[in-house]
Amino acid sequence: MAHLIDGTAVAAAVRAEVAEGAAAFAAAHGRRPALRVVLVGENPASQSYVRAKARAAGQAGIDAETLLRPADFSQADLLALIADLNADPAVDGILVQLPLPEHVDEAAVTRAIDPDKDVDGFHPENVGRLVLGEDTLEPCTPAGIVELLRRTGVETTGAHAVVLGRSNIVGKPMASLLLRRGLDCTVTVCHSRTRDVDAITRQADILVAAIGRAEFVTADMVKPGATVIDVGINRVEDESRERGYRLVGDIDFDAVSEVAGAITPVPGGVGPMTIAMLLANTLRAAERRAT
Ligand code: NAP
Repeated sequence: MAHLIDGTAVAAAVRAEVAEGAAAFAAAHGRRPALRVVLVGENPASQSYVRAKARAAGQAGIDAETLLRPADFSQADLLALIADLNADPAVDGILVQLPLPEHVDEAAVTRAIDPDKDVDGFHPENVGRLVLGEDTLEPCTPAGIVELLRRTGVETTGAHAVVLGRSNIVGKPMASLLLRRGLDCTVTVCHSRTRDVDAITRQADILVAAIGRAEFVTADMVKPGATVIDVGINRVEDESRERGYRLVGDIDFDAVSEVAGAITPVPGGVGPMTIAMLLANTLRAAERRAT
């Protein structure tokens, strides 16, 4: 039976460290690290993510404010809001919750954020630094996975890491981080056009699934003893639940637990780490800007 990697517990440890750092920052600089979260429109999932981020930030001693704007907020107005936040010396971190309404060009918005305040790590300058192996604000979900691997004591040097998914927010930055000096994995990235995915995943010492397909990875796709990280969050109908659905990952958790050496659950694995790393990035941004 696989060791259960408890993301909630690891995230709590990271959040406690951030709280200590934020208190030290406040003592040294006379203000708390400050995060501004911008939400355009009323996407219910985004609303709940934004609430969770603001709550966690407040608990860690970060001055967090959510700026809510209507769904018809124009791109020009959004860019003007970002320019104001960029110029505000008391703001350390800016996060614009994605997805944005269709009339807004997400890439233009991402580029408009000051890279030093880009706590999501999505600005092309920060993406470039990540690929170059330079110090940067790293995207929260893959950075959280690295933290999970480190704190669980997973051996990464020379390990074959297989990443399922090549999105800009998870798959690609995950591959860059695993390849970096210090982690030193041999990395393979798979996507929807990859041939014979099963044969590739079976070679993985570390398997990261970020594709958004419920329970896609079955036990026969996993090498015995592998570390399996499940990024997926998928709703599947479940009439036994009051809300009519339950959340599952991209991994068939019960079956893969019988084969893997270690595994993250959904929920309670990668999800809590994403928020913890946002807080860590906000503190880092504040400290970097203060020096
Ligand atoms: P995305 O942008 O939709 O990308 C999905 C990727 O999976 C694409 O690269 C796609 O390939 C690939 N893919 C789809 N079907 C595949 C298949 N059958 N075999 C191999 N690759 C396949 O998704 P995302 O934003 O990266 O998110 C992935 C999942 O993680 C979602 O369930 C999302 O909700 C979840 N997520 C969780 C967190 C968290 O904090 N826990 C954070 C972010 C995302 P192509 O490029 O060829 O289309």
